[in-house]
Amino acid sequence: MKYHQVIVVGGGLAGMRAALEAAKLCDTAVISKVHPLRSHSVSAQGGINAPLGNNPEGKDDSVERHSFDTVKGSDFLADQDAVDVFIGSSADRVYEMEHWGVPFSRTEDGRIAQRPFGGAGFPRTCYCADTTGHVMLHCMYERAIRHDIKFYEEWQVICLVNDGGACRGVIAISIITGELEAFMADAVIFGTGGAGRTYGKSTNAIINTGSGMAVAYWAGVPLKDMEFIQFHPTSIIGTNILMTEGARGEGGYLVNNRGERFMKNYTPKFMELAPRDIVARSIQTEINEGRGFENQHVHLDLRHLGKAKIMERLPGIRDICLHFLGIDPIDTPIPIQPAQHYTMGGIDCNINCETVLKGFYAAGECACVSVHGSNRLGGNSLLETIVFGKIAGDFASRYAKGLSATGQGKAAMKKALKEQEEKINRLLASTGSENPAKIRAELKSVMFENVGIFRDTKPMQEAVAKVRELRERYKKISLDFKGRRYNLDLCRNLELEGKIDLAEAIAAGALARTESRGSHFHLGYPKRDDDNWLKHTMATHTKDGPKLSYSTVTITKYKPEERKY
Ligand SMILES: Cc1cc2nc3c(=O)[nH]c(=O)nc-3n(C[C@H](O)[C@H](O)[C@H](O)COP(=O)(O)OP(=O)(O)OC[C@H]3O[C@@H](n4cnc5c(N)ncnc54)[C@H](O)[C@@H]3O)c2cc1C
Repeated sequence: MKYHQVIVVGGGLAGMRAALEAAKLCDTAVISKVHPLRSHSVSAQGGINAPLGNNPEGKDDSVERHSFDTVKGSDFLADQDAVDVFIGSSADRVYEMEHWGVPFSRTEDGRIAQRPFGGAGFPRTCYCADTTGHVMLHCMYERAIRHDIKFYEEWQVICLVNDGGACRGVIAISIITGELEAFMADAVIFGTGGAGRTYGKSTNAIINTGSGMAVAYWAGVPLKDMEFIQFHPTSIIGTNILMTEGARGEGGYLVNNRGERFMKNYTPKFMELAPRDIVARSIQTEINEGRGFENQHVHLDLRHLGKAKIMERLPGIRDICLHFLGIDPIDTPIPIQPAQHYTMGGIDCNINCETVLKGFYAAGECACVSVHGSNRLGGNSLLETIVFGKIAGDFASRYAKGLSATGQGKAAMKKALKEQEEKINRLLASTGSENPAKIRAELKSVMFENVGIFRDTKPMQEAVAKVRELRERYKKISLDFKGRRYNLDLCRNLELEGKIDLAEAIAAGALARTESRGSHFHLGYPKRDDDNWLKHTMATHTKDGPKLSYSTVTITKYKPEERKY
């Protein structure tokens, strides 16, 4: 058994920011199923928000305005006390990253440059060309190495140990050797990222399985607002790799098969810079009504920006187009379609990143504090990782420091280790007839088609039934490869069980919510219904599926009003 005062699961921006903070007080280690620099934060392109007022068009920006845009963008489901903390510390966190060495793009007079993003009243997105997440993650990792934080790489956490309401640590499998290990800790922080790969057509990497959310859910921690899944308007056809909103921020057009900038028919004032839920639905409507190309995409046209601007501000997405589509956006429009992109819901926690399980904290995309409500504004999630990563590290380390070493919890850890070992042995020995790859493909397809951009009662009922069927079939899977070393078949299929349970929480929450709010657009109930649905959905795990309950949204300054752009 290994022991650290604080264990952080996740080597992305949230996890590493939490670890840097916790390490100020406690012996801290990070467990990650991939090398930290392969965490999905590395792929964030467009930028990070803070109301610095550096762009001449945004000099009147303020904390108040950024907070209001965030709450309005969330369709008033965000908790406003959490938004206050979130936006209130945004400038400090961004300047901190600057001081730690993040090479932000600059204005002519040397300040951090800021570009427009969807749903924002001012250009407030700070960026490093179109590789913002990449440089932030590298900077953070170097700092973590400098502070001697211990990293356990290629360890996949499969169980969170709940010992009568207190968190004692995690059980993880070494991807390299297949051995299980009990990692005991006084406090555990999850920064395990989003659940994008529950869906087909996703901008997320294949590692974004939501396994951290599932592990917390199984340990008795509720998941909040899981039905709110963001669909990004612009991913390239085929691979669904993201074309950042920064491309529209720099002036890119969306064009249908008649050559029209169709956003004028949906949000004439904001055009391409309306929030993502609105732009994604508008694109899908154009395609559904026959104004797309080949009935599946529209064009993102950057040609008028000119070569110099594309090379300076959007070099990464140009590379992606060259490599994955064989076209150069300098002279050819980019074929794009909406794709799953972000998980607004997640592990339920308060503004201190505390959960109902004592000593267990969460931050970043796996968590739901909630600051994004039913729709996240672009540029706000990189910010979330560093604001709430710091808070989680701070609260977890102060909690761990305050405990006297009692040695309690060893028995619970040993029991959990034994149970997980037995589970894995059963899985490896299984000779069932079901192919897990087929189950995964069917799951992703039913989620995208039936609980996707446009939703309706019958398809969602079918999705819930299908997910339940897949859960039964999962019990009869067998694995092709039975060895222990680098058994990725085993690791991926351990995660598949979690994906199925998360999908059920998403679909059940969506089916119950008889209104439209943010990313949840219900054809049968196209209006927002504050009288009945201004509330968070909580899903608690039971062996028969999610048990849904509801909790209050914190409203302080901004009274809900119709969301118009
Ligand atoms: C293509 C793309 C572009 C984006 N661009 C932007 C942008 O420009 N601006 C913005 O604000 N947001 C952007 N986002 C969103 C933002 O990048 C993410 O929300 C954020 O980076 C998530 O960070 P994280 O630290 O929470 O998780 P991640 O970076 O996903 O890290 C998760 C970590 O957890 C580990 N992990 C997961 N499960 C386990 C397990 N079971 N055991 C052990 N380790 C585990 C992984 O190994 C990884 O280290 C973008 C997202 C995508 C997909």
